[in-house]
Amino acid sequence: MATGSCDVAVVGGGVIGSAIAWRCAQRGLAVCLVDPDDGRGAWRTAAGMLAPVTELHYTETPLLSLNLASLARYRDFAAEAQDLGGLPTGYRECGTVTVAWDGADLAALQDLQAFATGLGLRSRMLTGRELRALEPGLAAGLPGGLLAEDDHQVDPRLLHAALRAAAANAGVERIRSTARPALSGDRVRGLVTADGTAVSAPVVVIAAGAWSAHLDLPETVASPRVRPVKGQTLRLRLPVASAPEHVVRGTVKGSPIYLVPRADGEIVVGASSEEAGFDQRPRAGAVYELLRDAQSVFPELGEAVFAEVSTGLRPGSPDNAPLIGPAGVEGLVYACGHYRNGVLLTPVTADAVAELVATGTVPELIAPFLPARFDEAVATG
Ligand SMILES: Cc1cc2nc3c(=O)[nH]c(=O)nc-3n(C[C@H](O)[C@H](O)[C@H](O)COP(=O)(O)OP(=O)(O)OC[C@H]3O[C@@H](n4cnc5c(N)ncnc54)[C@H](O)[C@@H]3O)c2cc1C
Repeated sequence: MATGSCDVAVVGGGVIGSAIAWRCAQRGLAVCLVDPDDGRGAWRTAAGMLAPVTELHYTETPLLSLNLASLARYRDFAAEAQDLGGLPTGYRECGTVTVAWDGADLAALQDLQAFATGLGLRSRMLTGRELRALEPGLAAGLPGGLLAEDDHQVDPRLLHAALRAAAANAGVERIRSTARPALSGDRVRGLVTADGTAVSAPVVVIAAGAWSAHLDLPETVASPRVRPVKGQTLRLRLPVASAPEHVVRGTVKGSPIYLVPRADGEIVVGASSEEAGFDQRPRAGAVYELLRDAQSVFPELGEAVFAEVSTGLRPGSPDNAPLIGPAGVEGLVYACGHYRNGVLLTPVTADAVAELVATGTVPELIAPFLPARFDEAVATG
């Protein structure tokens, strides 16, 4: 494939764009993937929880089916990326424990557990004693918690590297640049990179995360309804024997906190949630609050080595669900707005977009997540 043309051009090489490029190439399409590789993607900061149950929100049940469909694919997806990319992904079936901080928290967890059970999800309540038996490093006196055996994790940095390698091995061409789609009349004709190089392609997929609404699209095209939601995570290190075995989540006096233990003793602590535009500078107060709350749930963290603070931009959407599908202009496809579940949703998004591009048919699974749902909301008031 010459750089000047391809079958599919993907704008944005985070986890979503890299996986889409890989899946499209596996279908025999000539693919080019454009990303400046400047390290600003949210995948660098993300904890990598694969957590349909413990991320369940009462108002987000449509998203649950997509989350579950993606989780069901994860084991095979990660194994295939590892095999074909030749790099590990850090996928771990470790389960998740959500701890209650006080009696009110415990009651809220019981409600959530009843809701989850009604939706057919597996989880069970734990007494304080069962909690400590499962995770002896937890703070004494926590009144109980919830075990979600099927909420697992992957290391997004490792996954991203494996996906990029698998994509390269499948023939995906990479261009290190920013890019914007180019249109001719009412259809896409390719993209233009930062230095003005044109790449012609009948299909362009926008997978630029939080930046997807800032690609200089002509006024006639509805930009995806995506905004940046800043989040900070910390990376700490404990001896493996002292670290938790499960992902540990909780709410300390109203502030959510999580600890995601990797196999090598790294623990990702997160996360803040801030409406701060594209500001990716770390905020001292967020670091303080995360350390304070994490240590009150898991006291041994006070002895951990502080390795890193990282700040990323979740691609938020008006209903917290992704925008996947045709963008209203022939050949233009959106795959963005994955908000706090983009790592989880990577397999299902990549499969759905590859099918759409290869066959022209919108897979049923993504029908509730078409970008046009927001246009309709505006039109009908
Ligand atoms: C603190 C935090 C914790 C999170 N935890 C989890 C979690 O536990 N589980 C989970 O499932 N998700 C989590 N997420 C969400 C997840 O990281 C995102 O939903 C996911 O990374 C979105 O993937 P993406 O590829 O769309 O965007 P990104 O990962 O942000 O990648 C976008 C890419 O587009 C590129 N780009 C931007 N503009 C252009 C342009 N003009 N041209 C070309 N390329 C461009 C960028 O360089 C970047 O590489 C978390 C996010 C944050 C911030």
